Amino acid sequence: MTAGFVANAVLEEIQRRVPIVEVVSHYVTLKRQGRNYVGLCPFHTEKTPSFSVSPEKGLFYCFGCGAGGNVFTFLMRIEGWDFRSAVERLAERAGVPLQSASRQGARTSERERAYAIYQIAAEAFRRCLAGTSGQLARAYLKHRGITLTAAETFGIGFCPSGAELQQALAREGVSVAEARRWGLLGEARDGRLYPRFAGRVMFPIRNLTGNVAGFAGRTIADQTPKYLNSPETDIFRKGEMLFGLFEARQAIRESGRVVVVEGYLDVVSLAQAGIREVVATMGTALTGAQLQLLRRFTDEVLVCFDGDDAGRRAAERAFIVAAQAGVWAKAVFLPQGEDPDSFVRSSGAEAVLAAFDRAVPLADFFFERKAPAPGASLARRARAVSEVADVLQTVEDPVLWELLVRRAAELLGVDEHLLRGRATRQAGQSALPPPVPVRAEQNARPEEVTLVQAIALSREAAEEVAAKNAWSLFASPDLASVAKQLAEAWSRAEDPLGVLHALPLEIQSAVAEYAVGRGPLAGANLVQVARDCVAKLLQRQRRRQFEVLTAELRAAERAGDAQQIAVLAERLRQLREQPEQA
Ligand SMILES: [Zn+2]
Repeated sequence: MTAGFVANAVLEEIQRRVPIVEVVSHYVTLKRQGRNYVGLCPFHTEKTPSFSVSPEKGLFYCFGCGAGGNVFTFLMRIEGWDFRSAVERLAERAGVPLQSASRQGARTSERERAYAIYQIAAEAFRRCLAGTSGQLARAYLKHRGITLTAAETFGIGFCPSGAELQQALAREGVSVAEARRWGLLGEARDGRLYPRFAGRVMFPIRNLTGNVAGFAGRTIADQTPKYLNSPETDIFRKGEMLFGLFEARQAIRESGRVVVVEGYLDVVSLAQAGIREVVATMGTALTGAQLQLLRRFTDEVLVCFDGDDAGRRAAERAFIVAAQAGVWAKAVFLPQGEDPDSFVRSSGAEAVLAAFDRAVPLADFFFERKAPAPGASLARRARAVSEVADVLQTVEDPVLWELLVRRAAELLGVDEHLLRGRATRQAGQSALPPPVPVRAEQNARPEEVTLVQAIALSREAAEEVAAKNAWSLFASPDLASVAKQLAEAWSRAEDPLGVLHALPLEIQSAVAEYAVGRGPLAGANLVQVARDCVAKLLQRQRRRQFEVLTAELRAAERAGDAQQIAVLAERLRQLREQPEQA
């Protein structure tokens, strides 16, 4: 079995050199648990880890949603890459050369091209910041207390109004059309092209693989808007990304928490003071998607608010968003009139860390704010319960709902049963977790699927099936072909798991599930499993032959064809006397 454009041996070599745990760790915080690693699944929302990675087998599997596969499958799913891109990226990281012919043949996808263009632009912006045209921008950063080292860490640059950007793009082969398409150049009324970010300090926004997916530009004069972003595209969705997350990943893992702030300069300023587990939204309110993204990295999500009334109202909204997204988050309130940047500069890193340590659950903040004052009127009390219940009704996560109802009853000082009745979730009445989704075609032909799994997992099982030449017994030609190819891979001394991504999804998942020590095949003798499956397939074939012969015999009897009756009766007798097993 080959993946078409690259030999299996090459795929195995790539997987050997880039361990799956290393790749997955870029997206998920993994903890060792016996032979496997576990973490929160990046493919569905969950509170307790059901996502496992087996370093020995090079596979991942999620017990919650059934996602499973090898390192290529993982990247295809999480990055939306096609198989070729996943292989090319990993090959590059592993230092494994792919054949040049296949590379030339590779169609560079549009998003890959966009990343390349943004990378070229980011470098041009950086050079401009360091050069003559960047003088004012450097003065601005200095005035804001940003050191050049911190600026370099985040790849901060400057977009001049002159022709420097166009020249740099042209030199690197970026066409004018491309620069316009990706929002680097704008067109004036008279048709003249100009740098869209002219006169702005440029913050590149990286995705989780470190690719620049867009920019935010802050004016250093008095242009409006103060901040300008790259256009929303396939690769740049402001509501689903966070500035600084790529840079902060390591610090988040080390500190066990992440802090969300509002400003790009807050992130840079705090990082400069040694507080690196910080990310920023990009001019939009915090979204559920962003909170869920952060929950993949840590349980401890802190959101920073100003200490004024606007900050409190923002925190109220953030609680509702977090509760609906099924995320438990905390609020940090800074002293009135301070943002993280001003606060760290006026009071130092220790004061900021102390404020982080005083973070309160957003839920507690919300319920306490809604709680009626002692001695409040009955009408006021009823309104408080009603307001809180309205929010709780929208919480879909059953576990979080339970937790919030109890907390709310306590903090509002109302009867829990009363609140429970009033806050019943609209979607589903029970507090049971949602059912595990059934995999497609799971019950199509169970023994054929099981047989393929056994063959994929065990050389001996493959040999057993090959010896009986059982391929013709399959009802599904696709599965028969997969089974045969897997057995052939074994006979060529290749590890079929290296080419797992080429298998049907249900097989991938089941094989990965087995590899992490779970599922119906866990602990089974795979040779015996294969034997049993072949026996079942033989039985099924026999039954079918019986049915056919019996039907033909009846037809012959109706037609009174004595000769035909004799032939068919003899064949039925032979079939009955055949041993059950091959
Ligand atoms: Zn999952």
